[in-house]
Amino acid sequence: MQPKVRFGYAGAGSDAKAIHSFYNTSCNKVDWSNCIFSAHSPLREELRRARTDRQELSAIGCYTTMAWQEEARMIRSQRRLFEAEWGKVNGEFMSLLPKMMETQWPADRRYVRAHVSINPICPRDLDDWSFTIYYLKSVASMRETVAHETLHFLYFKKWREVFPDAERSSFESPQLVWQLSEILTPVILNDSRMKALIGRKSTAYPQFEAAAIDGRPLMRVFEGIYSWKRARGKSFADFLKASYEEAKKNESDIAFLV
Ligand SMILES: [Zn+2]
Repeated sequence: MQPKVRFGYAGAGSDAKAIHSFYNTSCNKVDWSNCIFSAHSPLREELRRARTDRQELSAIGCYTTMAWQEEARMIRSQRRLFEAEWGKVNGEFMSLLPKMMETQWPADRRYVRAHVSINPICPRDLDDWSFTIYYLKSVASMRETVAHETLHFLYFKKWREVFPDAERSSFESPQLVWQLSEILTPVILNDSRMKALIGRKSTAYPQFEAAAIDGRPLMRVFEGIYSWKRARGKSFADFLKASYEEAKKNESDIAFLV
């Protein structure tokens, strides 16, 4: 059975915790502060005054509570828009993706949950197949994000089928397996069959788009593996194995990227 993406709301409290966890570099290797401040510039000033973790969380909490009140109408109308627009492609997407990745949707996953949120970073939760989606996204960007996050859920199911000894912890930042998942997701979404459905080219994290291995742009290396395997009728499992080998071979170059 194909899952359906259900759109709900993240809420001010949950957004505050998530934004804080991305802002707080002690629990995050990546510095997301610019991304946060570009969406919420008043927070920069608020956080400059915070001295402790608790003060940071409380400043972010006050801000998100106010933002959720002020933006309530917009958040609601964007949720309706996202639901209607994604609904047009859900069936085709959910049927194409397992075909491309040569696996099936698990029988017990009827829904993927998208929580509309004021957090500009859209984290996913692999355990409950949910993610947050920034409310001010355009329809095209929303479609790319929903496709991207939903792909992660099926990707790690497939990964376990191909690498049965995989550790759950390797699926999260900053592990190499996680980095590879972020590199390969746009590669898979840019398969012509999928790109036509999403309606635009998918991009990777800027640091991956800018990186090179052995003088070749990193993303082109993995796109090359994908098209090489596809042109020769190789399995998706084969593509994952070859990509993982390539990532391990260049681990020292990739490791510093996040
Ligand atoms: Zn991702």
